[in-house]
Amino acid sequence: MSDKDDAETMRGRLRSERVNSLFSEDELIEDYYDQPAANDSSCWNDYGLSTLQSSGTVSSRSSSMHSGSTEGLDAPTQLLPIIKAGWLDKNPPQGSYIYQKRWVKLDADYLRYFDSEKDTYSKRFIPVTSIARVASIGDQKFEVITNNRTFAFRAESDADRNEWMRTLQQMVDERKFKGLNRISLFQPPTGALDSVDKCGLLELRGFKNKLYVVVAGDKVFLYKNAEDYRQGIGITYIEMNVGNVKDVDRRGFDLTTPYRIFSFSADSDQEKDEWVEAMQQSIAEALSNSEVAEKIWSVEANRFCADCGSLNPDWASVNLCVVICKRCAGEHRGLGPSITKVRSLKMDRKVWTEELIELFCQVGNCVANQFWAANVPPSEAIHVASGSQERRRFLIAKYKEGKYRRYHPLFGNQEELNKALCATVTTSDLAETQSLVFCGAEVSCFSGDPDFPNPIALAEQAGQKLQMEFLLHNKNSEIPRVEAGSSEEKHYSVILPSVTHNGFLFKTPSMAKLVHERKSREEFSRRWCTLNDSIFSYYENDRNAVPNGEIKMEEIVCLVNNPPDTHGFESTFEVYIESERLYLFGLENPEAIRKWVKSIAKSFIHPRADELLSHDFERIGRLQYKGGLNLQRAKEGWFALTQSVLYAFLEDSDKEEAVHLKKLQELSVQGDSLVLVERRRTLYIQGERKLDFLGWVAAIQKAAGSSGDTLSEQQLTESDIPVIVDRCIDYITQCGLTSEGIYRKSGQNSKTTSLLEMLRKDARRVRLKEGEHQVDDVSNTLKRFFRDLGDGLFTKEFCQDWLKAAAIENEEEKIGQYRQLLSSLPVVNRATVKALINHLYRVQYFSEMNQMNTHNLAIVFGPTLFQTDGKDYKAGRVVEDLISRYVVIFSVDEQEMRKQQDEITAIIKMRIAGSSSGTQQAGDFICTVYLEEKKTEAEQHVKIPATMTAEELTFEILERRKIDTKEKEYWSCFEVNEREEAERPLHYSEKVLPILHGLGTDSYLVVKKQLSMENMLIYLASRVSDSKHGMMKFREERNLLGLGLSTGFHDRYFILNNSCLRLYKEVRSLKQRMPAVENSHRPEKEWPVKNLKVYLGIKKKLRPPSCWGFTVFYENEKHEKQQWYLCCDTQMELREWFASFLYVQNGGNVWPSESSKVRASRTQQDSRLGNISLIPLRGNENEMRNSVAAFAADPLTLLRNV
Ligand SMILES: [Zn+2]
Repeated sequence: MSDKDDAETMRGRLRSERVNSLFSEDELIEDYYDQPAANDSSCWNDYGLSTLQSSGTVSSRSSSMHSGSTEGLDAPTQLLPIIKAGWLDKNPPQGSYIYQKRWVKLDADYLRYFDSEKDTYSKRFIPVTSIARVASIGDQKFEVITNNRTFAFRAESDADRNEWMRTLQQMVDERKFKGLNRISLFQPPTGALDSVDKCGLLELRGFKNKLYVVVAGDKVFLYKNAEDYRQGIGITYIEMNVGNVKDVDRRGFDLTTPYRIFSFSADSDQEKDEWVEAMQQSIAEALSNSEVAEKIWSVEANRFCADCGSLNPDWASVNLCVVICKRCAGEHRGLGPSITKVRSLKMDRKVWTEELIELFCQVGNCVANQFWAANVPPSEAIHVASGSQERRRFLIAKYKEGKYRRYHPLFGNQEELNKALCATVTTSDLAETQSLVFCGAEVSCFSGDPDFPNPIALAEQAGQKLQMEFLLHNKNSEIPRVEAGSSEEKHYSVILPSVTHNGFLFKTPSMAKLVHERKSREEFSRRWCTLNDSIFSYYENDRNAVPNGEIKMEEIVCLVNNPPDTHGFESTFEVYIESERLYLFGLENPEAIRKWVKSIAKSFIHPRADELLSHDFERIGRLQYKGGLNLQRAKEGWFALTQSVLYAFLEDSDKEEAVHLKKLQELSVQGDSLVLVERRRTLYIQGERKLDFLGWVAAIQKAAGSSGDTLSEQQLTESDIPVIVDRCIDYITQCGLTSEGIYRKSGQNSKTTSLLEMLRKDARRVRLKEGEHQVDDVSNTLKRFFRDLGDGLFTKEFCQDWLKAAAIENEEEKIGQYRQLLSSLPVVNRATVKALINHLYRVQYFSEMNQMNTHNLAIVFGPTLFQTDGKDYKAGRVVEDLISRYVVIFSVDEQEMRKQQDEITAIIKMRIAGSSSGTQQAGDFICTVYLEEKKTEAEQHVKIPATMTAEELTFEILERRKIDTKEKEYWSCFEVNEREEAERPLHYSEKVLPILHGLGTDSYLVVKKQLSMENMLIYLASRVSDSKHGMMKFREERNLLGLGLSTGFHDRYFILNNSCLRLYKEVRSLKQRMPAVENSHRPEKEWPVKNLKVYLGIKKKLRPPSCWGFTVFYENEKHEKQQWYLCCDTQMELREWFASFLYVQNGGNVWPSESSKVRASRTQQDSRLGNISLIPLRGNENEMRNSVAAFAADPLTLLRNV
């Protein structure tokens, strides 16, 4: 071997070691063999690679660049606490047996390995989110398994191996459990980055192959190639708070850090400019991010997590004034915002005002822990390595129960606490304020001074800005209290407010049965009553010292305020206690009774439910209930009934919910439960005790029933239409649209009478069935209902105005007058007029079949609705106008119109299908819906009634599979188009049936979580303007126009406002000033958004430039179809565009506001439809074809001339 060879080998080895420090083995092998030695760049030698070399230019340059900002930050990697680190052997990926020693570090986000423990930049990082599992492979070895790759390590001992595996698995499980790995729908399954500012290939000096470089937030990530990026597995990342970017030449630029210089080279000078700009932005972001953190960390105690002691915590609870680490922050979040409001020091920049930062410097971890952690037994404390459960247990005890706090001497004395708070907030003693507030002083208590009525106003007046800041963040904070886990202890551990009240009351002996009969005055005896220390006592007279009897507040389960004159006294109230006794009290003085009821209610209602006290309730108390999907365990809820609204505080929610009893879909007693079915949930109220439960049942049933003969006193639907009207219209729509002389022919009088009587009694329970009920009986019932209506549909007050309006000659003026009158109707009347006219509008569409044109309908309905004798046509005139100008008068938009047409089409199809299969029943379609993915095990066959919404379908599937939905899980129904490789989440209110009819053979429905929904909602809530602008890549599907051209993707500028999507070709000129665009330039294309169907995804055959794309279908008024594609650069962009489309298409209503843990119960339907023959829509194709063949002619043609 010659000297030269030796030298070559030597040089190769040297280089391999260096390259080694940044790259993993597979790259190493490539680079080692392929790279000519001469290319070995000087930069590697200059600054060293694997260790921090203080030689230098670099570190001195860098520290002068950001002096101050790097102070206190030893190495950027220390920003995230290291959970575990140590030496492990790693096997090279290409089958070699030689293990290599690696320094391996695990933090909350990444598993990384390095050449040595001194290295700053890793050879490889694997996001914790992309780790699927960890497996042992014997001989102290274990594997870290991601979706696409496996990394094998060998530990020094079995114990060490087990420790690594346990820690890793725990991290992975925690991530999964908390859903922190929100891998979005748009994202590849292994978790590439969430928000990318710039990405692409760059040369990095010293390497043969280009690297895939990603600038995201305050970091720059290096990946071997785009594929690795998509899989989430990278080489290293650079924290930009220590970075500096410098232009070198036409295409080259340097990213300098104290540890290394990265010399990049772009493809063009324009590309280079963009990269430099992106990296400079990233540095700015990193610096501004650490600004807040560094100010707060300037206080020593704030540099360690207030709860577990981790170094450099970058999260905070802004109301508790503590700085906490990321892992503790996750658990804090679980306690809910009424206990702790979690914010990031780095990301939530807006929240960090000067005052708040100062507050954290003055209070912060030191003062906060002197209070919160005054008595922590060492056995209960947590530390850096504590697991998620331990943390949760500790944080609940610390902040929710206040177990370790230092009690204020005034604790328990509400009045004194409040007084002390009012005094303290005018001083600078923040520690005292903290102690007072978290020992029960009320932040909004009345100060006694009307000019400065509460502590916040007092602090403001005294110029105590920090006091104000603290109070404002704690305005709605929940005060800690011990809450035992088991329900036996629960009632007795609550600290109830202490209320004092006394006076004379009249009382009957206690009873074990509900009071149905009127109690005369003689049955009551006068007693002196006191309420003190949570005990209600009654005495023979006010001089007696020993009470005749007592009621403990915690025994009370229900309190009823009777209507006036129920008994011999003007005002009476009932108290129900746990041991099934009922006490009745009365007095002639309503005001005094009101005070008693208030005082008693206040002293037995759980403090978390005290909002209930603000209602003028007839009945208040606690009940067991079951709800949501999990019906295993009954929970405790607090309820108050006020007229027809039942207010509730349920166990797993911290806000009041209202159940509108008149709008229930069902109300029934089943066994010992009262079942309340709402559109989005079923609530089972349980009869734990008989006495108070029977009282509740009777009261709720009464409140839910129709109470009079005006419209608003009827049982109502969600959309404020009387259930009677809704049931009849629905039936006629399904069964009578084509029936000859509908509404003109009168049915059988006796049948009409009994049907109306049934409906009036409880419309909700009446199911109109074809075969059982005749179309003409139902139509006659509807007319009779309107004819007999107490105040009439148009109200007595305005009736004449409507008739006068009909005589106005000027058409425009007349319409204006109708619209005006319509707007002055009560809500229920207005909704009902619209529903009815909409229905008649549909009926006249079929006049060729049913002979009922607008004029004929007006002749029938005019006198009915206006309750006239029908001798003149005035009333008919109004009805005729309303039907013929329906679209204008009711401002019906095109989308609504189209939806109705689709529904009618579906109904007609069903009817034709029904009759062709030899049955009179319309029936429901059966459809195959998949859960989460398309595979046989995930198939569900669901009956789809005409009225079923996407939300109802989703709940039905979840319920069948017994899937418990958690908070922040956005389950939706998706329409998946396999041919286009695209999918569309259905809006929750969309009717499923018309969509089913439109599905091609390569489409199906699947119910799954909409992973990006939360981010979309956050984006929508935080954006400043309703419109969205930006570049996207655009491609048209020309084939549909017969040109057969493939045009490829091109940059276009888009503006989406609340009605249109506009496309502009002139990119460069527009990029400068966007707001002017809309006025100064004509768009190249423009589409009404409501006519677009936007699908996520683009078929791969078209080679979209990124995976963040849409497929868009457009259909114009002439039913001409177009199809085109849009592609975004980043996932974030895609999400924002999609969110904006959803927002515009659904009038801002993207997700139901009510909590979605609820469900729509469809169990009733199953029994109702038990014997109806069902027509499979999907599944058996032949059967389907046969049944559908009958309506080959497009029924839409009927509706075309709208
Ligand atoms: Zn912590």
